[in-house]
Amino acid sequence: MRKIFCSIVFAFLLIGCSSNTTENDTIDDVTAGSVDVTSVVENNFKNSYTDGVSVEVNGDFISISSTGLPDHKTPYWGQGHEMYEDFPGTNHANANTSMTTFNYVMTIPTKPSEATNKEQTDLGPVGMALNGAPIYNDYEGGGVLQENAWGTFDSTGAHPGPNEDYHYHCEGTYLSVDDSNLIGFLRDGFPIYGRKDMDGSYPSDLDDNGGHISVTDNFSEAIYHYHISNNVYSTSGLYVIKSGSYHGTKGTFRD
Ligand SMILES: [Zn+2]
Ligand SMILES: [Zn+2]
Repeated sequence: MRKIFCSIVFAFLLIGCSSNTTENDTIDDVTAGSVDVTSVVENNFKNSYTDGVSVEVNGDFISISSTGLPDHKTPYWGQGHEMYEDFPGTNHANANTSMTTFNYVMTIPTKPSEATNKEQTDLGPVGMALNGAPIYNDYEGGGVLQENAWGTFDSTGAHPGPNEDYHYHCEGTYLSVDDSNLIGFLRDGFPIYGRKDMDGSYPSDLDDNGGHISVTDNFSEAIYHYHISNNVYSTSGLYVIKSGSYHGTKGTFRD
């Protein structure tokens, strides 16, 4: 009798588990994979200075092309350029002095969805800011960002790499300044915002990859989105834009 009872309980637990799993999968599919990002991508990517951003929709994918050059002041335009400004502060390492034009194409899904296996972000572009310049994570060639790297950042938290490829690592004075601005999209197609949510609060339920699911200023339907980290990076006083893994499956980013 006792054995039969145990079997029944066990069977019940199995049913309970499997139906839970199914329910969660369904929620993920509906919540994260049903929101179409096309119009937000089309309406927000632009580069007011170099006019170097275009958006093309092909079926289930969107390709965003850019020159990678910023539309704001930076010392990396070079002295004498109309968009030149000095480095912020006085304690900077002038490691790279120029940046160059690329033919970047980032391809993302129109309806990004959660990946079963989350892939770690790598060195190189992990996303694109709305002006077409790449977003990098907390890594430089050789390892995590160190003091010698953050000394090369301009006022916007960006610098060119060894290939004169200008890119953002941190919050600065342009993409977002402690606010809820949409700053770009990562390669998995999910949007990334400043440190705050649209109600002005700092999100308290971010996952290990810096994101959560909710409505935003741009999406009236709840969507997974990242935030700039609200933790000061090391002793830099800077906020790293993105670290950890992609929530979805990363698309291509070519130059
Ligand atoms: Zn870098
Ligand atoms: Zn949020």
